Amino acid sequence: MPFAQPNSGDVMMVRHIRFHGRGGEGVKLASRIVSRALFLGGLNVQDSPLYGAERRGSPVVAFARFGEDPIHERGYIEQPDLVVLLDPSLLDHPEASVLAGLNETSLLLINSAQTAVEVKGHHYTAAQVVTQNVTSVALEVLGHPLLSAPIAGFAVKTAQLAPWRQLAEAVQIELSAVGLGPDLIERNLRATQRVYDAAPAVGLSAPRRPEPRPGHSLFTIPRLSPARAAPVIEAEATSRLRTTAGWRVFRPVLDRQLCTRCFLCFALCPEGAIQLDAQNYPVIDYDHCKGCLVCMTECPPHAISELREDAA
Ligand code: SF4
Ligand code: SF4
Repeated sequence: MPFAQPNSGDVMMVRHIRFHGRGGEGVKLASRIVSRALFLGGLNVQDSPLYGAERRGSPVVAFARFGEDPIHERGYIEQPDLVVLLDPSLLDHPEASVLAGLNETSLLLINSAQTAVEVKGHHYTAAQVVTQNVTSVALEVLGHPLLSAPIAGFAVKTAQLAPWRQLAEAVQIELSAVGLGPDLIERNLRATQRVYDAAPAVGLSAPRRPEPRPGHSLFTIPRLSPARAAPVIEAEATSRLRTTAGWRVFRPVLDRQLCTRCFLCFALCPEGAIQLDAQNYPVIDYDHCKGCLVCMTECPPHAISELREDAA
């Protein structure tokens, strides 16, 4: 399967990549790295993130377009050739629209410990699905679920977008640009190469023919439906019913023997996910704790530890 490159005949039309994840997982940077790798191969590239709420843990989407000719399209990518999903919990949130616009020619890459068959058993999509446990590699090599570079390795290898040396240069450039030091860049390269080497070489299907637009040659940017841009509020006082725990990689666990009941965790939890019981011990609301671990970091006697969510 050849890599995407100019004059190859299969990239004349604009190809479309959509990245989905949550704030803080590295969606925007992953899109930058993949786009940079394509750019280094001599292609025209355009990439842009779209944030909803500027808040860690909220759904984030980013777009990358590439092709041999200048790219005049703008806006939301409705019909992606490739979707890269950093956080599989978003599949359970219809408003994130991860599966929107996918068809049998699309490729869906999911960062998940589940197999593609298991994912497809719970979520219908006509797209070809490939999974890889990128979070585990990031935790092993980087010590944190920093996904941007390793997930780019998954996408670039599986979709056959660029050879390794091009991706490695892209990782160097983009991670330097956000201020990472040589040691962290080197570890990111190691994590990325591990994911890249393990990923299958699937490649993108032949490009879809654009819809004919008789009568004019201008590209019309479609308006997004309000459902994409605004919450649907159908009943009041429902926020407690909506759990926000799906994107936790680690959960905080309290050791009451060590707790001095200083209230710091209660005061500092950004989600208000810690209450106090009748004896003033903290009680963690795991339906609304997002796993930021601020409580663990700030607890003076280290009464809070972390537990990998997979093992909880
Ligand atoms: S990890 Fe701790 S501080 Fe963060 S949301 Fe959960 S309970 Fe709150
Ligand atoms: S910060 Fe630590 S010691 Fe203080 S109440 Fe929370 S768990 Fe207990």
